[in-house]
Amino acid sequence: MYHKPKIVVLGAGYAGLKTVRDLTKALSPDEADIVLINKHNYHYETTWLHEVAAGTINPNQARFMISDVVNPSRVRLIYDTVEKVNKEDQRVILENGEITYDYLVIATGFETNTFGIKGMEENSLSIVDINSSRLIREHIELKFAKYSAGEITDESALTILVGGAGFTGIEFVGELAEKVPQLCKKYDIDLKKTRIINVEAMPSILPMFEKDLVEYAMKSLEDRGIEFRLGAAINECTKDSFIIGENNEEIKAGTIVWTGGVTGSSVLTESGFEIERGKVMVNSDLRAPNHDNIFVLGDCAWVMDPQADRPFPPTAQAALQHGEVCARNIKALLHDEPLENFHFVDRGTVASLGVTDGIGNILDGTKLTGKAAATMKKVVDNRSLFKLGGTRILLKKGKVRPF
Ligand SMILES: Cc1cc2nc3c(=O)[nH]c(=O)nc-3n(C[C@H](O)[C@H](O)[C@H](O)COP(=O)(O)OP(=O)(O)OC[C@H]3O[C@@H](n4cnc5c(N)ncnc54)[C@H](O)[C@@H]3O)c2cc1C
Repeated sequence: MYHKPKIVVLGAGYAGLKTVRDLTKALSPDEADIVLINKHNYHYETTWLHEVAAGTINPNQARFMISDVVNPSRVRLIYDTVEKVNKEDQRVILENGEITYDYLVIATGFETNTFGIKGMEENSLSIVDINSSRLIREHIELKFAKYSAGEITDESALTILVGGAGFTGIEFVGELAEKVPQLCKKYDIDLKKTRIINVEAMPSILPMFEKDLVEYAMKSLEDRGIEFRLGAAINECTKDSFIIGENNEEIKAGTIVWTGGVTGSSVLTESGFEIERGKVMVNSDLRAPNHDNIFVLGDCAWVMDPQADRPFPPTAQAALQHGEVCARNIKALLHDEPLENFHFVDRGTVASLGVTDGIGNILDGTKLTGKAAATMKKVVDNRSLFKLGGTRILLKKGKVRPF
C-alpha cells in the first residue's frame, strides 16, 4: 500500500519556518504530509529580542502568528515542546504526546550557556525568547519604579550589569542607552544615579568586526554612558552582583543579564546525537551524520566552511539559507535526485548600537557606521520578515522608525 511520506519540522524560527514555507511551495499536497511543531503559536524574530528586553520595541512587534503565514489546512501545526527524538523508531516525543516521521528537520535553536560560572544560571536573566526578554524589560522597570517610590533606597538598584560583549550583549547595551534616560524621565530619577556596565573576559568587544569598527562602537557607547570592564573574567554571579577579575571586585546591580554564551538546543543531547561544542556537525547537505532522513539546521548545527576549514558562524542569515537548501534537499530525496551541498552566501554583518547608530560590513566589503549602519540594520530586519511572512507581515510589523 502507498505510504505518503510525513515530514516533521521541529521549531518555527528562521530555519524551521523557512523550510516549511519553501516545502509548501515545492511539493504538492499529494507528495507529502508536512507537520510543524513549535513551543508557541507564534514565530518571533530572535534578532530583535535585545530590543524587547530593553523595552525599546513592543514584544508584539517582534512576533507574528504562525497560522498567519502557514496554511493550517496544508501544514499540520502542533504547539508543544519537543523533549527528544527516538531515532530508532522515528518518533518525536513531545511534552503532551508523540508523533512519527519519515523525514525530520531539527531547528529548535539555541539555549543559554553559562559555562559553569558560579551562580550565573540561578541569578541572572537571559535573552532567549519573547517571554525571557519581556521579563527583563519588566524587571528593569520595576526596579526604577520601586526606587522612585522609596521602596528601595540603594542606588545600585538602578545599575544594569550585562555579562558578555558579543553581538547580543553589545546590541542590548546600545538599546539600554536609549531606554534608561526615558525611564529616568518617567520615574523622576536623576540619570547620574544609573549605570549600565558591560563585563567581558576578552580584551575587546564584538570579535567578528574589524578594529576600526570596534573602536567606533566602543566610543559611541561610552559617549552615551556605557561602562566597559574588558579583560575581566566573571568569577561568580550572586543575586545582586558580579564578582570579577583577579581581585574579586564586587559590582552590585539591580538587574543582571547574561549574554555571554549559547549552545545548541538540549533536544540534541536528549536525543543522543553526537555533539561537538553543543551542536551537531552536519554533512555538507545538512543531514546529521549516519542519519539519511534527519536534517539539523540553524543554531543546532555546525556547517563546515570548506574554504576556511572551520564552521560558518551561526546567524539568522545562515539559518534562513539552511531552510532554503533543506527544503530543496527533502524534495530531492522524495524524487530520488541528488542532494545539493550548502554554500553560505555572506551578505554582510550589521550590529545596532541603539536606534540611530550601528556598525557594519556589507556585501562588497563596504564599512558602515552611524545612521547608515542603523538604516542598513532595519533593511536586514525587514528582509528577514519579508522572507518568512511575505508582504502582509512586513507591512504590519516592519521597522520604519524615523531618526
Ligand atoms: C538578541 C540577539 C540578536 C541577534 N542578532 C543577530 C543579527 O543581527 N544577525 C544575525 O544573523 N544573527 C543574529 N542573532 C543570532 C540569530 O538570532 C540566530 O542565529 C538565529 O535565531 C538561529 O535561528 P534558528 O532557526 O536556528 O533558531 P531560532 O530562530 O531561535 O528559532 C528556534 C525556534 O524553536 C522553538 N523551540 C525551541 N526549543 C523548542 C522545543 N524544545 N520544542 C519546540 N519548539 C522549540 C523556539 O520557540 C523558536 O521558535 C542574534 C541573536 C540574539 C539572541
